[in-house]
Amino acid sequence: MKKRHKFEIMNKLKYAAILFLFLGLIYGFEDRNNPVSTPEDSLVIRNIYSEALVGTESYENLMYLCKVIGGRLTGSKNAENGVNYVFDLLKKMNIDNVYKQDLMVRNWVRGEKEIAYAFTDEIGRIGFNVCALGTSVGTGENGISGSLIEVKSFDELKILGRENIEGKIVFFNRAADERGISTGYGYGSSVDQRVIGAIEGARYGAIGVVVRSATVSHDNFPHTGVMHYNDSLTKIPAVGISTKEADELDKQLSLFKNLKFYFRTTCRQNPDVPSNNVIGEIKGSEHPEEIILVGGHLDSWDLGEGAHDDGTGVIQGIEVLRLYQKLGIKPKHTIRFAAFMDEEIDQAGGRKYAELTKNEKHIAAIESDGGGFVPFGFSMDGTPEQVEKLKSFQKDFEPYFLFYFRKGGGGVDISFLKKAGIPLIGLVVDSQRYFDYHHSGNDVFENVNRREMQLGSAAMASLIFLIDKYGL
Ligand SMILES: [Zn+2]
Repeated sequence: MKKRHKFEIMNKLKYAAILFLFLGLIYGFEDRNNPVSTPEDSLVIRNIYSEALVGTESYENLMYLCKVIGGRLTGSKNAENGVNYVFDLLKKMNIDNVYKQDLMVRNWVRGEKEIAYAFTDEIGRIGFNVCALGTSVGTGENGISGSLIEVKSFDELKILGRENIEGKIVFFNRAADERGISTGYGYGSSVDQRVIGAIEGARYGAIGVVVRSATVSHDNFPHTGVMHYNDSLTKIPAVGISTKEADELDKQLSLFKNLKFYFRTTCRQNPDVPSNNVIGEIKGSEHPEEIILVGGHLDSWDLGEGAHDDGTGVIQGIEVLRLYQKLGIKPKHTIRFAAFMDEEIDQAGGRKYAELTKNEKHIAAIESDGGGFVPFGFSMDGTPEQVEKLKSFQKDFEPYFLFYFRKGGGGVDISFLKKAGIPLIGLVVDSQRYFDYHHSGNDVFENVNRREMQLGSAAMASLIFLIDKYGL
């Protein structure tokens, strides 16, 4: 009898072990040998992730920002609505401090839907879907038309010279380099055409420029983005064209050497208008005067809804505060969230923040502006010692599949804090789909995955927890 009883216990233990193994396989043993600094830290981080992964408020907030308010072009009514929405959202959270920072921003407006077509006498018109590049001058009511000259580099333009370019429309068609692992590499390899194409075209007497979108994505979305002029040269209108349509235009040009192009844009620069950064804080219990900043930019381009760029960054920052509140985590230092205005055009928000806070002490500034995708880790612009400290936190994130902790950039908005010696940290995410959306009509709420965005929120909240406890 006794022996049999022992056998039954052994049997139960065996089943328990099998069940444990099975559950372990399902859950991936993510807490096994968790090498976090202390068991208590491990638990806090686990709780942050758990709450973020079941929480739905932030996704609902993003939906409102994207679907009800929409794209938030700097200086627009939508941007103002975004400011008021974020301010009210923070107020409702009953955190310690909510306020706005006043600033002035440019007010560029797109005007009517752009019109464009290629044409010759033989084939008639072939329509193209173009978008005015941000801050471009318009063409005037009648539009502009001229022979099209295609180039892939500024050197090519130089070789062609004024005699071949004057009075024509330059078509910049250098494709983004797809060999980079990060898609930012491809963007970086082609974005100069958008930023200074109109300057280089005007240098040789062009009357307008058409620019292939700076993206590794092959699709029909034209991407906008900021462009610059040189005051000593004529300001000529610039439009973006999708990668697929750029290929089509190239094909038509090879078939019809006499191809001309027409486009009409009514975009214009209105007088500057007042706008705001929005700030929300949870005060530190021991060092309220020392700040850990987290944020993203509230403005966006107007073709889409500013979902990944950078609605998710703003919403994730607010979510960090919510996670602290919900879990009752009391930070020693002040956790400050900032929604920056005007990242896309003049960075007036980032500049103003740095100016207004120059006498405050920041321990670190963290920005999420790479889209709401699966996080890989963090990059840091700081001293070698600070970067080493950041790397020492990496083991705490291994259970959550974050392995990238390296020297690198922080973010555009927080970059103005660099001269004050503040360590700048950027959330590094999977970039593969970012430029499918970036600055295009495709940057919409539907393309944001709730779990991916929330993994980013949790990663930032966890890093802030560790910095608050262990410093940098
Ligand atoms: Zn952005």
